[in-house]
Amino acid sequence: MSGRILIVEPIATNRILIRSMLEAARYKVSGVNSATELQARIAEFRPDVILMDFSSTLAASLALCSSLTRVVPRAGSLRGPLGPEPAGMIPVIALVKDVGSAARVSILQAGAVDIFEKPANPARLLARIRSVLRARDAQSELCPETGPAVAFSFAEESAPYVATPSLVSVLTQRADRLAPICQRLKDRGIQCQVHPSPTRLPPIQSSRAPDLFVIDSAGGGVGPGDLFRLLADLRSQSDIRHAAQLVILPPGANDLAVLALDLGANDLVSETISAAELDYRIDALLRQKAASDRLRENVRNGLEAAITDPLTGLFNRRYALSEISIVARAAVRRQGTFAAMILDIDHFKAINDTYGHAAGDSVLVGVADRLKAEMRADDFVARIGGEEFLVVLRDSTLDEARVTAERLRQTVASKGFDLADARFATDPNSTSAVEVTLSVGVAIGSGDCQTEAGIRALYDRADAALYAAKTAGRNQVTLSSSAA
Ligand code: GH3
Ligand code: MG
Ligand code: MG
Repeated sequence: MSGRILIVEPIATNRILIRSMLEAARYKVSGVNSATELQARIAEFRPDVILMDFSSTLAASLALCSSLTRVVPRAGSLRGPLGPEPAGMIPVIALVKDVGSAARVSILQAGAVDIFEKPANPARLLARIRSVLRARDAQSELCPETGPAVAFSFAEESAPYVATPSLVSVLTQRADRLAPICQRLKDRGIQCQVHPSPTRLPPIQSSRAPDLFVIDSAGGGVGPGDLFRLLADLRSQSDIRHAAQLVILPPGANDLAVLALDLGANDLVSETISAAELDYRIDALLRQKAASDRLRENVRNGLEAAITDPLTGLFNRRYALSEISIVARAAVRRQGTFAAMILDIDHFKAINDTYGHAAGDSVLVGVADRLKAEMRADDFVARIGGEEFLVVLRDSTLDEARVTAERLRQTVASKGFDLADARFATDPNSTSAVEVTLSVGVAIGSGDCQTEAGIRALYDRADAALYAAKTAGRNQVTLSSSAA
């Protein structure tokens, strides 16, 4: 995996050792011997990860780490802490020598993603770097404009998140031993379920999937094969694959650590970790999980909004027209044809004028619902203008299209649209329904509709047919006389 790594380490021999280990793993590496040199080097080297010694000057390192890992929102965008550069966040891995448990928590609070006692085990450090780079890439994909965002370091997020209470699932053979962890979770309003096997997937309620799995592989009886299977299973189930994973390891279990990180575990702790540090790491994982959930939700909503008409929920004009080129390409492969039809509500302006704009909107929604209900799963309907709809039948001859168009016309004309809703009634005692009819113009498309000009020509043919239907008296279907 390529990446640029900056080492901050005052002891030259340590720096050289780490550098050669990273270069052997094909990373680009730069080193500085103090925090004061760091700022300038960041600007020119643009590291993806910083390995920072914290033991020589703890207070200064903490302040620097905070400034590197916190994203300050400014002028509508997430900006980095280093002045005008949109630096985003640079993940920091802390290197320490004999620091106390309180200092370790301070280091995590300052935003470090992990802490390694020096000398760090090379394989485990490399696995951690790989996992950090993977997490950063996953994050960037979710929010490409802002780069890796808040959901990533151990630092506190500035905005409070709490939505539904988080659920933690603890997989352990030693329920007694881990009981204090669950009690502390519950004290913080976090739900906790304990399952008695650290090697098997627990039963998952579909309505309430855990946000975090704590996997206790320090209680004995958990081999690399067991951990491999469990972590792979957890990531393969659609309802829990985004859950965070924290693995508790026996001290010095570096092989298991590498395996767990490479399989996507989000964090590892030794079973000798302090209660305060464990609690902090669990809270941080839950915060990151909630932030990632929000990002995924935004992406989903954004994608949907980009192709949907907000009033009717149908596809919008832009999506529909671009989809025609795909339909045309499929028609070429099949050596067949497809149909496009424009459906326009007759005298819609009169509905607005009589019952009001809101009633007009409700008629549009009602017409959209009826059209949708009549469509085959493969075909699609879009709202392409105020009271105009486009229907595309992906595999259709002119004859078949005429039959469908006639069915769509009838489904709207056969029964009025109920405007008994008090908001729309001109006479509150009236329960009359408003009669609505459609005129439809149908045209047949083929391979030449793959280009923008081809799509435009098809649209114009359907539109001309629609115009003919209107001038012939409305509430009817007209077929385009021109060939595809
Ligand atoms: P024709 O039979 O010739 O199609 O007559 P028409 O009245 O349906 O067509 P015209 O183009 O004269 O009027 C369309 C009306 O649709 C005018 C516009 O105010 C209304 N309209 C457009 N978009 C919306 C909308 O989103 N909601 C509502 N309620 N009305 C809309
Ligand atoms: Mg119109
Ligand atoms: Mg109209």
